[in-house]
Amino acid sequence: MIQKIKSNIFSFEGSEFGSIVYLVELKDKIIIDTGSSANKNELIRDLKELNLTPENINIVIVTHNHFDHIGNIQLFKNAKIYASKKEFPDEKIIDIHELNVREFKIIDTPGHSEGSFCILYEDVLFSGDTIFHNNGIGRMDLPGGSEIQMKESLEKLSKIQFKILLPGH
Ligand SMILES: [Zn+2]
Repeated sequence: MIQKIKSNIFSFEGSEFGSIVYLVELKDKIIIDTGSSANKNELIRDLKELNLTPENINIVIVTHNHFDHIGNIQLFKNAKIYASKKEFPDEKIIDIHELNVREFKIIDTPGHSEGSFCILYEDVLFSGDTIFHNNGIGRMDLPGGSEIQMKESLEKLSKIQFKILLPGH
């Protein structure tokens, strides 16, 4: 299902379990999180509705290394993949702090996982699995999770101004 959030931001939600996938169209065509592989065909179909193919995407950002966010990375054959090196040692993955999209501010928010981060773009916060709507927060009991780090991350986010929250679920 496609939802238009702003003129240049769309979300895609598949019918199977998986993270929400976001498209941001700037000079680059950027995907934030890729969902689970169970939703692969729906994602391709949704992109097609917007006259895009996975090959048109040139940047993919993955907020953290959980299966429901990384399932379709391999679809985006022409994209540079950015994520936390703490969670993605693979040399093909570029560290998120090297991302050169000047409209995006990366905020490290470990807690749900050790390399989790959020992205602030104008008044929009892409929060991965760190925070959800209705004051929800990500679970901390998975490998790499930390209650202490989550507390610090929430403190950090409480000082950030945004109007639209776009979480991973
Ligand atoms: Zn997660």
